[in-house]
Amino acid sequence: MAGRSARAAVRLDTPVQFLKGIGERRAEALERLGVRTARDLLWHLPHRYIDASTLTPLARADVGQEVACVGRVVAKGVLPTRRGLRIFHAVLRDDSGLLECVWPGQPFLDRTIVVGQTLLVSGPVRFYHGRQMAPREFVILADGDADGDSLPTGKVLPVYPATEGLSHKIIRGLIERHLEGLIALSEDALPEPDRQTLDLPKLPDALRSVHRPTSTEDAERGRRRLAFDELFDLQLMLIRARTLAKRHRSGVAFSLKRDLTTQFKESLPWQLTADQHRALREITGDMTASERMHRLLMGDVGTGKTVVALFAMLLAIENDFQAAFMAPTELLVEQHGATLEKLLEPLSLRPELLLGRQTAAEKAAVRKRLASGQTRLVVGTHALLQEGVAFRRLGLVVIDEQHRFGVEQRAALIGKGAAPDVLLLTATPIPRSLALTLYGDLDISTLKERPPGRGTVRTAVRNSGQRERVLEFIRGECEKGRQAYVVLPVIEETERADLRAATTMMQSLAARWPELQVGLVHGRLKAEERDAVMRRFRNGELHVLVATTVIEVGIDVPNATMMLIEHPDRFGLAQLHQLRGRIGRGAEESYCILLVDGPAPDRLQGFAATQDGFRIAELDLAERGMGDLIGARQSGGFEVRHARLPEDADLLGRARELATRIIAADPALQRRENQRLRERAVTRYPRAVELFRVG
Ligand code: ADP
Ligand code: MG
Repeated sequence: MAGRSARAAVRLDTPVQFLKGIGERRAEALERLGVRTARDLLWHLPHRYIDASTLTPLARADVGQEVACVGRVVAKGVLPTRRGLRIFHAVLRDDSGLLECVWPGQPFLDRTIVVGQTLLVSGPVRFYHGRQMAPREFVILADGDADGDSLPTGKVLPVYPATEGLSHKIIRGLIERHLEGLIALSEDALPEPDRQTLDLPKLPDALRSVHRPTSTEDAERGRRRLAFDELFDLQLMLIRARTLAKRHRSGVAFSLKRDLTTQFKESLPWQLTADQHRALREITGDMTASERMHRLLMGDVGTGKTVVALFAMLLAIENDFQAAFMAPTELLVEQHGATLEKLLEPLSLRPELLLGRQTAAEKAAVRKRLASGQTRLVVGTHALLQEGVAFRRLGLVVIDEQHRFGVEQRAALIGKGAAPDVLLLTATPIPRSLALTLYGDLDISTLKERPPGRGTVRTAVRNSGQRERVLEFIRGECEKGRQAYVVLPVIEETERADLRAATTMMQSLAARWPELQVGLVHGRLKAEERDAVMRRFRNGELHVLVATTVIEVGIDVPNATMMLIEHPDRFGLAQLHQLRGRIGRGAEESYCILLVDGPAPDRLQGFAATQDGFRIAELDLAERGMGDLIGARQSGGFEVRHARLPEDADLLGRARELATRIIAADPALQRRENQRLRERAVTRYPRAVELFRVG
């Protein structure tokens, strides 16, 4: 408008500091929330909504319930307890009455919460000299008298992530003030016809719905639109990455010579499972095609991935190429080395090992044989990635427990060949929807069936009242020559006073069972010490191995038939499943015992009832949500803030369809009508800059 201030017009990339109502101080605080630009502010979305109709009046917050309430602070203070703990407490009032809230060990809240504020609190109500809530969460809704006694005025109140010096209320005010202006600057990249077919709201409407919903359904509708965009961008990137990774190798396609591969199949002492057959067919198809293989082999421990990987390696070797097999720990590499050596004996082929702990001279000799091509199959740790390691003709790279390596590490090994085929292995099955999100750039083979001839694993949930009997059982089995794992969630009691810890357990078992050898491993031991203890256990020198979750990966001891897990409620289901995979590796029956303090929770009963890793992965996903799983699994660059799996699986499928169609027609998104899509993907994913580089 003519005559208004000379201030430059706000753009989405304008630093927030230049927005009205935000000075240097607030800009600094916003930065702590990851909000730097106007765009970030627009996209600083509520992390939850409070539906006023679900709030409980303070007087009706009953002992034993989990409730959300709103009230004004009428008194507060810090009280010491006899044990030296300092407790912050505040008394809230609403029209119905009063409720005391306590925050043990958080006296510093005295600086944040003041009389007159309106607080939202949610958490369990218990009885301690009266009704008392120990809030899991609190939000300062209003600061004092000026705001009146404001219960949320609208029916649905958005709650924003806040930070010190910048309350939820201030953030809400800032967003309210700038919302329409910023929405006007946003462009909807989704082509209109597709938006209509997908029946999703327009972007401006979606943003209004999430920031200022008229109902929780309205907020959800907005969220779904944003979730779609997010999944769609991810799929665009993954599908593009997949096309690039599969680019033609210059003229080389392996051919199934039926030389080593056939000999190998005939030399196996058992039949391959149907799943193994199928995976082999898929891999052979990839390897004999002129495009590069870029495949993930997913299967629970014990489903026979190694044999399948070995077949692929032999296919490369019979074509006069070399194969490299990388695993994350020395112990795993040794195990693979021993397994391969046995399986390859009939073929008079010897795998070579490359490990950090070899002497410099040994390593130099291995490097020489790799460079000359004399070594055809090498198994190694990260040591394979070193600069001095070069291959004469690397045709296949296999990476075990692939998620334990970073993107760069995988790329470094692959880069040692001209354009080697790539086979990644993982013993962490995930549901299909999640696999498409995380691994959409890979083809996937799955092994579900377990080979016959393995003992079963029985899982039982027991109450800690039965601890004596359980321990007695374990001792008896150990005396018969079996071995046991005892798993605890923490290393030392000082970490969490309410949890039993590995070090204490080790001492108590060693004292209780002088006739047995008890060892201890945990993540704070040096890698060599840890490997040394695990080796002793594997060699049968220890009967019992007390451990934290470090044993999740990499130890294969067929004689270990028992696992006792303390505080199993502290672990995710997928993690429990990984732990349980350490037993049941021999022919004997194995026992996994989950020791709980109270009644057995349903989730653990469900876990005990199934051995199917894919089923457990679904339960785990439903339990934990997707963001958490991605965070745990994938360090590099995925951002999933709005989408939820499995709920949004339908959106994911449609996002993938649309992305496939668009990339097929315009692989590098160069067409004019795709510019906005490309810009958005690149803004969201720095990695996309490389992928969609023109030319
Ligand atoms: P994973 O790597 O998937 O955990 P492995 O490849 O180590 O599984 O196989 C587990 C065990 O099962 C190994 O001892 C292997 O020799 C054996 N095995 C693999 N395939 C079969 C099969 N088809 N029949 C019987 N035993 C098998
Ligand atoms: Mg394995």
